[in-house]
Amino acid sequence: MALPFTLEAQEPAGQARAGRLTTAHGDVLTPAFMPVGTVGSVKTLTPDDLTSAGADILLSNTYHLALRPGVGTVRAMGGLHRFMGWSGAILTDSGGFQVMSLSPLRKITEEGVSFRSHLDGTAAMLSPEEAIRIQDGLGTDIAMSLDELVEDGATPEQVRGAVDRTIRWARRGLDERDRLRERGGGTMALFGINQGGTIAAARRRCFEALEGMPFDGYALGGLWVGEGKALGLEMVAHDTAMFPSDRPRYLMGVGHPVDVVEAIARGVDMFDCVLPTRNARRGTVFISTGRLVVKNAAYARDERPLDPACDCYTCRRFTRAYLRHLFAAGELLGMRLASVHAVHHMIRLVRDARAAILAGRFAAFRSEVLEKFHSGETLEPAAAGGA
Ligand SMILES: [Zn+2]
Repeated sequence: MALPFTLEAQEPAGQARAGRLTTAHGDVLTPAFMPVGTVGSVKTLTPDDLTSAGADILLSNTYHLALRPGVGTVRAMGGLHRFMGWSGAILTDSGGFQVMSLSPLRKITEEGVSFRSHLDGTAAMLSPEEAIRIQDGLGTDIAMSLDELVEDGATPEQVRGAVDRTIRWARRGLDERDRLRERGGGTMALFGINQGGTIAAARRRCFEALEGMPFDGYALGGLWVGEGKALGLEMVAHDTAMFPSDRPRYLMGVGHPVDVVEAIARGVDMFDCVLPTRNARRGTVFISTGRLVVKNAAYARDERPLDPACDCYTCRRFTRAYLRHLFAAGELLGMRLASVHAVHHMIRLVRDARAAILAGRFAAFRSEVLEKFHSGETLEPAAAGGA
């Protein structure tokens, strides 16, 4: 197996799990939150910032790196880890989601997705085989299979077609990895992606086919695309109940703190999302008591850190008043300091969840986190500060 996974603890009366993935670039503790380094950089942060936050894995986007600088350049520079100066583990996506969401004039056929670059309009084709070859060329630790996404609101026939194609593409991706291995490459782990939208029977049918294929882990695809949280979580519970307990489970694109805790409670091990860092660069951060709009004028003389309960560099050193000033003045340091907090906060959340699972107190942890998040406490501007 390309990716040894040790299950260290499971909640006695629930599904929450704590585990450990062993990669060529170190162990990854689960539940894990992967910061997103879209084009080979987690915007505004250095690899040392990520390590300080406790990150042991990050996600990079195949589509972006394949277009610029191109897989040939990354390979010539010693692979993505060396190119970006990151020694931890890397998971890459298949490129499919970005092709669908960013490229104009994309067209899906059995062969793959033909598209035009959103950068310069160049025509290209992303096939299941090419997605595997690119990820291998980048030197990723965990690659993702190319799947066909189902948009929210798709008809049952569209869902059926997408599931069938996802299954065929999954097989083709695995075959391509086998061919790479015959030539001494393809050492990366490969995850299959379960599709089927919000139709439970379709998701079951998809997984029944994927289950027989030698994937190193399984992702829950096509969720959090507008179906609503209750239905999304219902599908999460449905999928994890089918997935084998000895492989990691990855919920793609989910990163709201409440959703992460609820998905951990339903047996998910891995997460990624641009939301916390993208929001941070726009001046909004999640803290333990809710969502804080840093730019709010009411914080102009607030001496408290962003989150009094956080021990990140930003919260140990700076006031809300200073952060608010940086954003008001358009200073780049504001984006950077808010991002430092955002990544630290998400990783701290999953680490605390992990500690609670290991200690057999996840149920209490979950209630505490959710209650605190919804309390809004400390979000109100302080009366003090010399106004
Ligand atoms: Zn902080």
